[in-house]
Amino acid sequence: MPPTLSEINRMNTGFFYDPIYLEHDTGAHPENAGRLRAVVDAVESAGLLPKLRTRAPRPATGEEVGLVHDSGYVRRVEEAALGGESFVDSPDCAISEASYTVSLHAAGAVVEAVQAVAEGQLDNAFVACRPPGHHAEQDRALGFCFFNNIAIGAATLIRRLGYERVLIFDFDVHHGNGTQHAFEASPAVFFASMHQDPRTCYPGTGFAEERGSGAGLGYTVNVPMPPYSEDGDYLDILRHRLLPLFREFRPQFILLSAGFDAHRDDPLAQINLTQMAFDAMAADMKALAAECCGGKLVSILEGGYDYRRLSECAASHLALLQSDAG
Ligand SMILES: [Zn+2]
Repeated sequence: MPPTLSEINRMNTGFFYDPIYLEHDTGAHPENAGRLRAVVDAVESAGLLPKLRTRAPRPATGEEVGLVHDSGYVRRVEEAALGGESFVDSPDCAISEASYTVSLHAAGAVVEAVQAVAEGQLDNAFVACRPPGHHAEQDRALGFCFFNNIAIGAATLIRRLGYERVLIFDFDVHHGNGTQHAFEASPAVFFASMHQDPRTCYPGTGFAEERGSGAGLGYTVNVPMPPYSEDGDYLDILRHRLLPLFREFRPQFILLSAGFDAHRDDPLAQINLTQMAFDAMAADMKALAAECCGGKLVSILEGGYDYRRLSECAASHLALLQSDAG
């Protein structure tokens, strides 16, 4: 049967997931496998799976991880996991034996996603991975993160695939300190983050005064949001302040640090968003990608600790990326 018009128009969206992500198992920890099980269940019950190009990722190579992290640090994570240590650098970065391999598969999924979108095999993609990445520094695990998945994706675009302008928008409720630090001296990556005011929330960085350095000055934009900010507060900032800056930057590729922990029901922070704001942000960023860079966008899961809200918001986010509307 020939494809219907809606099938022709439908976005060719990649969904990167692997059951290996469940094997980073550190017992009672807010960042646990149940988060991802809930997301996959929600994607499945929304009937999205048949519409997606489902991809199982390969592990990132040492060279790919080395685009962002020191080799000594990478070795330290490997040795800690395989040696039976209980955490890397701080107790909130708890590990199990599989954690090193799982982390490589999270970073590898992002590398594969950006390559597939850059090559036109996919229009856009969502990477449902864990552990998350945006707090991981060049030489340090932080905030449940080991390898900075999105930074490795951006570095792949810039240093391997010849891109000159990559936009990262991070709407996780926590500041993406690791991502910011990886690119703060570079004008090739525009990093913008909306997060809860660092005076009231982990990791305590991401003040408006942090604007990049050297040639990268002005290519970092932090918007700390007061506790209890709501949908309208976020959308005002995105539409009136950030989108004009994003358009001026003229991104050739857009990456999202998609954390859903700014939801009002999330236990780890005090921002009061509903799914409406997450949907609106996804729609705005998808429209920006269509306008600036042929739709090239890869969204990467970061935080979100209320199973129900995380899974509803992530499935809806994915449905928006895949939809032919807007
Ligand atoms: Zn977070």
